[in-house]
Amino acid sequence: MALSGIQIYKLLPQTNCKECSFPTCLAFAMKLAAKQVELSACPYVSEESKKQLAESAAPPIRLISLRANGTELKVGNEVVMFRHEKTFYNKPGLFLRVKASDPDLAKKVAAADAYKVNYVGMDFSIDGFAIELDGNPEAAKTVRSVTKRPLILIGNDAAALDSTLSQLAGESTLIYAADSSNHESLADVAKKHKAILAVKADSLEALADLTQKVQARGVEDMVLDLGGKNLGEWLTRSTQARRLALKSNFKPLGYPTIFFAAQNGLDKEAVYASQAITKYAGFVVIDTFAPEMIYPLLVLRENIYTDPQKPIQVQPGIYEINSPKPDSPVLVTTNFSITYFAVANEVEGSGLPAWLVVTDAEGMSVLTAWAAGKFDAERIAKAIKGFNVEEKVSKKRIVLPGHVAVLSGEVEEELPGWEVRVGPREAVDLPAFMKQVLN
Ligand code: SF4
Repeated sequence: MALSGIQIYKLLPQTNCKECSFPTCLAFAMKLAAKQVELSACPYVSEESKKQLAESAAPPIRLISLRANGTELKVGNEVVMFRHEKTFYNKPGLFLRVKASDPDLAKKVAAADAYKVNYVGMDFSIDGFAIELDGNPEAAKTVRSVTKRPLILIGNDAAALDSTLSQLAGESTLIYAADSSNHESLADVAKKHKAILAVKADSLEALADLTQKVQARGVEDMVLDLGGKNLGEWLTRSTQARRLALKSNFKPLGYPTIFFAAQNGLDKEAVYASQAITKYAGFVVIDTFAPEMIYPLLVLRENIYTDPQKPIQVQPGIYEINSPKPDSPVLVTTNFSITYFAVANEVEGSGLPAWLVVTDAEGMSVLTAWAAGKFDAERIAKAIKGFNVEEKVSKKRIVLPGHVAVLSGEVEEELPGWEVRVGPREAVDLPAFMKQVLN
């Protein structure tokens, strides 16, 4: 039975030292009871209390980790139903299903493995491969020769799974899937190889029964296939399982889920995968390797799994656009990613060279940062000095965003010897400004 906030508080040091980022131990205890923080955030809990708090500290949805050759994918460990309540933490893994018997297996895997796309400064790719073991005992070796990404092994032949897992020693692999007829043999294989075992059943009740049987056989790391005849049924089950795990701390369903997006035909694959990403899947398996489908899925996933309370930021620094020369202008902006990309894209598209200094404005846009005191003359001057801009340029001239024209006098005072110009308010007007005013 989960402990209340007050019960947890009694087990904490009660010194209110604030090292956990909360003002009091009671505030921390309340968050711990609500599964919104981890016990490890408090460094002073005694070993005795840790034992007693173990259940409260355990994530309601178990953290599952797939590892292979230095790459790792973590799923689960989620604590809220809706991202606006806090955030979703571990993005669902996107896996491509391939057949062991496919004569082009290596070629297909290599092509998908090489897929990489950049989105607002982040590199996206798929996370791994789900191999359907249909009679080719060398499939895992073939796949391993062209990718280092984590694997899911699909099959119900315990001997074939055992043999394949032996070829993947040292990795953490997911086996799909145990049901009521084979859970004992597959659990034994999973236990032997320290693999993760997916379990499937026709109802949530049967699934909860099965996870307890598998656990009793010594397997702790599991993934759930919720079944369901259509998208609506899967959504209902996914929501119910998540709610039971989070709200009722119902451990038999406290595991990440796996979803096969092509189960109802390839034409609906993108729609099914999208729903699975937004509604709690831990692993999404697709059958089609098509960049035009994978890219929007990865972007959707990124947007669902970013912290809604933290703006997406780019690294503060000095960025070179169109190979700037010492006499190229120095533009200044904030590190809110949309602001950065608006400015960078306009200048890059114009073909005009420039130095772009991105200040640390805690991820806020220009006007918001200025209003919050995060984008002022002092910070701008600190960035110009800190990034050694003076060493790169022969013409000491900076351009402020038009929205903060009011800062120009103060910036001149902070940066003696620099010419301070006020640029346009909108990034779209930068190319014309650079051509007509700066030259
Ligand atoms: S770090 Fe621990 S002792 Fe300090 S305030 Fe937080 S809960 Fe209390």
